[in-house]
Amino acid sequence: CGIVGYIGHRDAYPLIIKGLHRLEYRGYDSAGIVLFDGKDLKLSKTKGKVSDLELKAEKEGTLHGNIGMGHTRWATHGVPNDINSHPHCSNSGNIVIIHNGIIENYEPIKKELIKRGYTFKSDTDTEVLVNLIEDVKKKEGLGLGKAVQVALNQVVGAYAIAVFDKEKPNEIIAARLGSPLAIGIGENEFFIASDATPFIEYTSNAIYLEDEEMAIVRLHKPMKVRKIKDDSLVEPYVQELQM
Ligand code: GLU
Repeated sequence: CGIVGYIGHRDAYPLIIKGLHRLEYRGYDSAGIVLFDGKDLKLSKTKGKVSDLELKAEKEGTLHGNIGMGHTRWATHGVPNDINSHPHCSNSGNIVIIHNGIIENYEPIKKELIKRGYTFKSDTDTEVLVNLIEDVKKKEGLGLGKAVQVALNQVVGAYAIAVFDKEKPNEIIAARLGSPLAIGIGENEFFIASDATPFIEYTSNAIYLEDEEMAIVRLHKPMKVRKIKDDSLVEPYVQELQM
């Protein structure tokens, strides 16, 4: 299973697809992509291979944008099918997530969200997390980064996630606990991936998130890394990758 995210000035689609191919060795049963073209979120997802996703994305026109996220899924909650494939959107349609790992306590959270009026399309634990983020954001009037942080402090499990909010279209939030996540730092562009192979030809500067850390990557701003538990700022160690 794997994660590839991009925010910058490049055409995100070919970069993400190429990155997903490079992560195929990690194993997966489904694949999906979301692109933001400055106005709308476009998603394509399918059971099967990254090459199946390419056919579907081309048919559905999910091709344009300089911001995007791609995912290969290894199903843990919900059978491998198109609907359970990632990315998953929140009920408002504004927040979108990709996730590797398991949210162990998704059932009580899901029950609570259903009581609060949320509906679910998939059987995944991941769709519960994205709606929890949305609920926290609305209820507590928080920005995306803070909402992700509060939500992650309520979940038990393991994750590497990348989250994007249409209402805050110049940032991606990435976080990890138990699943690897690397962030490539370019000239006013960022790459997020399960390992550095998807972005090695674009930048040699990378940081590897530690467990219980989250990164707030924003265009035109320096990246911030925080501890999820106590909100303290971490000075990220930028590694020089060898080609
Ligand atoms: N638990 C999530 C799901 O079943 C993510 C699985 C993964 O790591 O790809 O959809």
